Amino acid sequence: MDKKLKQTFTYVTHLECSMVGDNYATYQQHNLSKAGKPLLVKYDLKSLSNSLSREELSYRPETLWRYREFLPIKNPENIVTLGENMTPLIHTPRLQSGKGNIYIKDEGRLPTGSFKARGLCMAVSMAKELGVTRIAMPTNGNAGAALAAYASRAGIEAYIFCPEDTPQVNVREIAAQGGKVWLVNGLINDCGRIVTEGKEKMAWFDFSTLKEPYRIEGKKTMGLELADQLEWVLPDTIFYPTGGGTGLIGMWKAFNEMKDIGWVNGKLPRMIAVQATGCAPIVQAYEDGAEHAELWEGAHTVAAGIRVPVAIGDFLVLRAIRESNGFATAVDDEKILEARNEVAQQEGILLCPEGAATYAAYKKELSSGRINPSESAILFNCASGLKYELPKMSRFLDCTQPVIDYSKLSD
Ligand SMILES: *Cc1c(COP(=O)(O)O)cnc(C)c1O
Repeated sequence: MDKKLKQTFTYVTHLECSMVGDNYATYQQHNLSKAGKPLLVKYDLKSLSNSLSREELSYRPETLWRYREFLPIKNPENIVTLGENMTPLIHTPRLQSGKGNIYIKDEGRLPTGSFKARGLCMAVSMAKELGVTRIAMPTNGNAGAALAAYASRAGIEAYIFCPEDTPQVNVREIAAQGGKVWLVNGLINDCGRIVTEGKEKMAWFDFSTLKEPYRIEGKKTMGLELADQLEWVLPDTIFYPTGGGTGLIGMWKAFNEMKDIGWVNGKLPRMIAVQATGCAPIVQAYEDGAEHAELWEGAHTVAAGIRVPVAIGDFLVLRAIRESNGFATAVDDEKILEARNEVAQQEGILLCPEGAATYAAYKKELSSGRINPSESAILFNCASGLKYELPKMSRFLDCTQPVIDYSKLSD
């Protein structure tokens, strides 16, 4: 077929350094800007809104690709997909203490069991479009699992480096899905250093968080989808478990793009970054009024996905928090696990620890007064609770003996 006749679509105009604002050409391989900061994808939003309406969107299949005009893929043949369904927004009235509705956005329903699928389907599709053949990435687990799956599907090689105490299920799913996975006796930033130091020798394209521009675009669909599901009326607050921060940055980008074209009006949601007390660099920087976060020493928490001691997009997270009149807050592991039990037992939703942290933070901030019970809240559960270790269960019945007292079974 004549190449020119192929259906192509994109409203991308250029890439822009998120710090300095200088421009970069589209459709070339890019990592960081000259200033060493993340690149953001810019669109011709005016033309986009002239050719697409919210109504038209509503007739499309309920997948991430219904927002394709807001996404960077030029040639649909390059889309690498595993069925990125819309995720449910579940009303959880038992978690509510006032008239402000609370919803859990359950991202655990996506391919590979986490919202990392949103970012990686986009980044891998773009890598395919740009002719990348070998990728490397440091990960705490879920991003590596999503990368392994999409890269295998695209026929791209993926080298993946995890801290050695990454949940076993993650490490094994990466290996099972064809990723070349290595355990490293350090944290995610140590894994990142291995990628940086090896990339020339190995001809790797660096897929570290925010070191390529397209994962944010995939994560952005959380914001688009949320608006779509809430009939274009955004919630008062969003509680987001924050590690590298791509999700929070992406959603904030989506809200601003939609605001630019008049799809949402009024005040945007307050963005609330939730971290664990054992690893809270963003919270510390927020409280210090700093633009950047400092490396968090000795990071530890059960919520592996938010154990990120240093994030290259720290200033973008802090900007979004401040611009939105939100804040950053930390909760400890004990509260996280308590919150997981409470939500599972009251609402039947098994959260991942990172997701549970958002509910623990919600409760904490209700009592501190930073959140008001009349404000609506979205709690992000970014992965399936089934990917994590659960409390032991050891009740046992010997079926060779009669059950003497059935009433005891209710203990
Ligand atoms: C990666 C991850 C996070 C953190 O997401 P960022 O957008 O990188 O801050 C939170 N929860 C889970 C389960 C994750 O896998």
